[in-house]
Amino acid sequence: MSSCGVLVVAGTHGNEVNAPWLLQQWQACPDLIDAAGLSVQRVIGNPEALNRRCRYVDRDLNRCFLPDQLEREASGLEFQRAGELLRLHGSNGEHPCAVALDLHSTTAAMGNSLVVYGRRPADLALAALVQGALGLPIYLHEADLQQTGFLVESWPCGLVIEVGPVPPGVLTARVVEQTRLGLETCLTVLGQARRGSARLPDALVVHRHLGSRDLPKSDKGEPQALVHPELQGRDWQGIAPGQAMFRAADGSDRSEVLVEGEIPVFVNEAAYTEKSIAFSLTRREVWPVEATWLPALQQLLSAV
Ligand SMILES: [Zn+2]
Repeated sequence: MSSCGVLVVAGTHGNEVNAPWLLQQWQACPDLIDAAGLSVQRVIGNPEALNRRCRYVDRDLNRCFLPDQLEREASGLEFQRAGELLRLHGSNGEHPCAVALDLHSTTAAMGNSLVVYGRRPADLALAALVQGALGLPIYLHEADLQQTGFLVESWPCGLVIEVGPVPPGVLTARVVEQTRLGLETCLTVLGQARRGSARLPDALVVHRHLGSRDLPKSDKGEPQALVHPELQGRDWQGIAPGQAMFRAADGSDRSEVLVEGEIPVFVNEAAYTEKSIAFSLTRREVWPVEATWLPALQQLLSAV
């Protein structure tokens, strides 16, 4: 049985401290964010990592929502936490939630943005409503077998709010305010969808994931060149085709270049170094909004 509960998760990564602080302030001051009449459950994704101010303890929690591993009760703090979050707040959990909003921050210059995983109609409806209200850019992450097990995929509907740039562990008023605005807008449009008053824009603009690039490395894994200064800080921006991706220490450009229409995102996200990702490449697409999207979201929100 689904429910109209909305799960708000902060601190899925323990070194991303702005959203957890916002949730704490919201707890103390319920008027801080308008919940739009929705039943909202607030949780810290990875409390142990947040205590330690590290991204994770054993592994990245936001890659642990893998049904097969969770069924086998895979070991390690984060797999156990993923199972616990689903038992408590999953769509069939003790306090069921139909929608999950997962709040992140990044060292990349992503501004205030949304990440959607795959093409579930309810997710696309929610993202389109938020984009219609705030104009936020959307990173559509799909079809990447190297990157799976994201939290929001385990709820019937969900998206990530990603704000940057901010260094790990640093509280920043701008990042908190952007997070608050993104979250409140999500709740506002979910409330409207539930009441039947939501109006989708005509089109949804997505940046569809194409793949990721790592720095050129030596046999020993040492970087031989760095992200080109023309890409640094230019997430979401159209850059001329033929632009070199990497620059060596002597100032020379490497041969790898951007092709027509490739737009970089998550440029130099610190945590992706261990995943061998220097940045990801996307293509900007304008999709007509489909008639099935909003009813799919409304159906999730109507069942109590
Ligand atoms: Zn994160």
